[in-house]
Amino acid sequence: MSESGTSVPVRMCVRCRATTASPVVVHEVHGASGPGWNVYACPACAPYFPPVPDPLLVLEAAQRNRRGDVGR
Ligand SMILES: [Zn+2]
Repeated sequence: MSESGTSVPVRMCVRCRATTASPVVVHEVHGASGPGWNVYACPACAPYFPPVPDPLLVLEAAQRNRRGDVGR
């Protein structure tokens, strides 16, 4: 990791398409095959997006669903 100091990652806001030096991750896209990527928004647009769901919570809900499916 040699990235430090002056280089600030600049991302494009997915909502207003403006580049921002302080991007906020508003969504995580998980690729079906291969690595996923993050969707960024500028701080002004970030509140308009729902919070990123926690993968662990989603997994937990899925397991609970499956368990509830076991019936006669
Ligand atoms: Zn924006």
